[in-house]
Amino acid sequence: MTVPPPTLEIDLLTIFPGLFDSFLSESFIGMARERGLARIEAHNLRNWTSDRHRTVDDSPYGGGPGMLMKPEPLVDGIEELAGPKGASRSARVVLVSPQGKPLTQRWLSEAAGHPRWVFVCGRYEGVDQRVVDLAIDEEVSIGDYVLSGGEIPAMVVIEGMVRLIPGLLGNAESVVKESFTQDILEGPQYTRPPEFRGQSVPAELLSGNHAVIERWRHDKAIERTALRRPDLLRRATDELEELSHKERHQDQEE
Ligand code: SAM
Repeated sequence: MTVPPPTLEIDLLTIFPGLFDSFLSESFIGMARERGLARIEAHNLRNWTSDRHRTVDDSPYGGGPGMLMKPEPLVDGIEELAGPKGASRSARVVLVSPQGKPLTQRWLSEAAGHPRWVFVCGRYEGVDQRVVDLAIDEEVSIGDYVLSGGEIPAMVVIEGMVRLIPGLLGNAESVVKESFTQDILEGPQYTRPPEFRGQSVPAELLSGNHAVIERWRHDKAIERTALRRPDLLRRATDELEELSHKERHQDQEE
């Protein structure tokens, strides 16, 4: 019997591959790898150096604090793992960077269509601009703050990607209903016992009436989003308005 290729293949370039050991072997990521649904490997960037000290950094031209990641090991490593930049490249190459496009659930859903990835983890003051220009397809940020390295940002993106692998998580519906998947937050959730320290589970959830439960969940999701993230509701309304504007325009042209 031939074994099907993994749904998702990811190579990581990092100077700290050991940071990924437990991340890649525990929980559902470990499960995805064991079941052959994902192949994820962390490669030591120093394998692509050629000097005795396996140097990956150098001081910035023009002065300034800190060091920068040198272009040669990064570009050589990326090209060995993904091929040269261009249409025929076998993988999409992402540099995690605070200057990148903000990571969203939408980005993750779109990413789910691409089977092969290379993630580049920056360190020091970042990477030489020629690495970005010559070898990176896209830059992704996990938020408006600065960490010391790209390993944790890469883990964040990878965790978001792996959990979308079809058939991996038991309840596919739970992935669809989660916060952001429908551009709103998920409402409050409860498990047993029905009463805990004087706090009761809302009667609607105990009613056994599917329609009542669905309506309650929907209302609470909207209420919570309006309170905590009104920007998401505004965006959804704007998008709906834009869509109906386009439809009206099309109708007039026909
Ligand atoms: N000097 C850089 C700047 O101002 O944009 C920051 C470099 S940061 C100290 C070192 C590395 O950590 C970056 O190259 C990137 O790979 C990673 N990093 C830090 N914060 C990040 C974030 N919010 N999202 C994604 N990657 C981040």
